[in-house]
Amino acid sequence: MAEEPSREQGAVVTEAAPTGQPRPPQSAAAAPTRDLRPQLAMNDDGDDEIADVAVKIENVGLWYGAKKAIDGVSLDIPRNQITALIGPSGCGKSTLLRCINRMNELIPNVRIEGQVSLDGQPLYGPDVDPVQVRRIIGMVFQKPNPFPKSIYENVAFGARINGHRGDMDELVRKSLEQAALWDEVKDKLNQSGLALSGGQQQRLCIARALAVQPEVVLMDEPCSALDPIATQRIEDLMQELAADYTIVIVTHNMQQAARVSNRTAYMLAQQDLVGHLVEYGRTEQIFTSPQDPRTEDYITGRFG
Ligand code: ADP
Repeated sequence: MAEEPSREQGAVVTEAAPTGQPRPPQSAAAAPTRDLRPQLAMNDDGDDEIADVAVKIENVGLWYGAKKAIDGVSLDIPRNQITALIGPSGCGKSTLLRCINRMNELIPNVRIEGQVSLDGQPLYGPDVDPVQVRRIIGMVFQKPNPFPKSIYENVAFGARINGHRGDMDELVRKSLEQAALWDEVKDKLNQSGLALSGGQQQRLCIARALAVQPEVVLMDEPCSALDPIATQRIEDLMQELAADYTIVIVTHNMQQAARVSNRTAYMLAQQDLVGHLVEYGRTEQIFTSPQDPRTEDYITGRFG
């Protein structure tokens, strides 16, 4: 794995850093000579306790038909921070992400157990409208998927459906500004969203998600189709958005999880092929002093 260029805000924390005094991994003696652990961004509050929980996931399990994909997942997601879900392909990261805004229910034959709450309000219940849940908890996908409409209409789309009564021009401008795209598109709002570059399209999709004024934004490998420069722009944007939104990101890129997230959850599907949560904690702790040897194997590149 190539070493990432250091980042402007990326005062890099290594194992020797004074903050947190992480202990070396237990089996360091057996570690390969090339340490694959990523560099860490300095976005650690140093606090193991989560003071302000936005999303509470309690004992969530999910079946696709007869196949159980995840089991017994519980974790608290902090408000206005970035939480990363990492783990090998197929361990259930995207499935868990989609449980947070009830997107899995759009897939036939899915059965879900457990509960997810936002601000203490249960999201799975007879009186809850899943469409409303998906408005409050927005989603950005792996591949940018703008509608074949103008840039303006892409952003205005969801707000129109929700009967937005305010100034639409203002909402579109604000959303594009928040998504760090305004300066690049302000003179061509009537052009097709599909004419933008991949990175711009992804920021357009982020603007579209923000325009319906969500509280939480879920991102499912949002950079996997982007080049390194576009990836860096999205990562910088995520950090900015965390001031106003709670963000959960699925990434197969550990470097990215280490760079952008405050907390990291490591998931794994073992012999039974059912995804479990192995370890969850501050990103610095997970990457420098994992408590579970399976986490350590993964972050040091020995597995996955
Ligand atoms: P990850 O995001 O960690 O790669 P996924 O959540 O995509 O994992 O998948 C977890 C498991 O659920 C995998 O075994 C996958 O094949 C299965 N799965 C995912 N989506 C579906 C689906 N729509 N229908 C059936 N099985 C699925």
